[in-house]
Amino acid sequence: MEIRVGVNGFGTIGKRVALAVSLQRDMRLVGVVKRSVDYTAMFAASHSIPIYTPSHREAEEFEKAGLKVEGTLEDLLRRVDVIVDATPEGQGARNKPLYEEAGVRQVYQGGEEPGVAEVSFSTLCNYDDARGARSVRVVSCNTTGLLRLICTLHRAFGVERVRAVIVRRGADPREVKRGPINSIVLNPPTIPSHHALDVKTVLPWLDIKTAAVAVPTTLMHVHHVTLTLRGEASRARVLEVLAEAPRIMLVSSRESRIRSTAEVVEAARMVRPRYDVPELVVFEDSVSVDGSEVMLFQAVHQESIVVPENVDAIRAVAGSPLSLEETVKATDATLGLTKSLW
Ligand code: NAD
Repeated sequence: MEIRVGVNGFGTIGKRVALAVSLQRDMRLVGVVKRSVDYTAMFAASHSIPIYTPSHREAEEFEKAGLKVEGTLEDLLRRVDVIVDATPEGQGARNKPLYEEAGVRQVYQGGEEPGVAEVSFSTLCNYDDARGARSVRVVSCNTTGLLRLICTLHRAFGVERVRAVIVRRGADPREVKRGPINSIVLNPPTIPSHHALDVKTVLPWLDIKTAAVAVPTTLMHVHHVTLTLRGEASRARVLEVLAEAPRIMLVSSRESRIRSTAEVVEAARMVRPRYDVPELVVFEDSVSVDGSEVMLFQAVHQESIVVPENVDAIRAVAGSPLSLEETVKATDATLGLTKSLW
């Protein structure tokens, strides 16, 4: 089975998802939708990625720049089974009627409201629930990080309660006009932050509260998470479960001397394209277990953590025969997810 995929929006998330799709043996990247000519359009053209524009209006600018346009978004929709919408927050919901009319399956991003899709999605929590849905929404980067941890520990021990403080990166590296430049901003100023509500779109039964601040960094988010398990556990057993889980990387400060997001990224720069770290990074030495309470720090690379989940979401909506274990294995092998950065 070959799944024909289009990606609408070729920014931070869209370009990574498009490249990830092109690596899958059971998928074909039919094309990406670009609105204007810039260095990412030049990249697509020079890497033989077919370019489509939202409408005929934008095509002229591309042709003037010598970039071939294969058609409009509507043309692309006629040629694909699944469209991944990676346009800015809110645009996905505006695009939905077009997708529905074309009869294609849809994958949306976490910036959209949950109502945009039938299922809010995180592979390790609800891949099977999403299989066969016409549309899914891959939850945001912070929510993906929280859910990978929670669902991994829930499967092993049962999780009753979660409290988390989220230290958010102020902007992505390319966003030159966003801040904060010199402040710690309550973001949002109220508790719980929307991240808890977003986790509940996947795990409605969970007792979870989150609070968040934004800080002047572009590299990664950091979470301080406290989980209450159903029963008592040992630190050794919790570490064992995390070490065996897919998409989680334990980083020990003892041998590697890594104790910051800057050092995680510097290690990734030596081995990863774009220094992507789609794994959830759990700082091993921060893991503290006291009876049924687990406390730890983890880091989330906002630009890449949702990419494996997007690939799995495509399989889920396309009715792929791959099971949860099979999709995780296929996605992680092709994207090069590992248990360490060296
Ligand atoms: P982005 O701004 O980097 O990329 C969006 C791209 O879509 C840009 O290239 C823009 O030019 C293009 N675009 C704008 N309007 C368009 C239209 N009508 N048709 C086609 N293309 C259009 O944004 P992003 O960070 O990739 O975010 C996309 C989605 O992913 C959002 O829902 C966001 O919340 C979510 N998300 C972002 C991150 C992150 O940290 N950047 C992490 C997880 C999820």
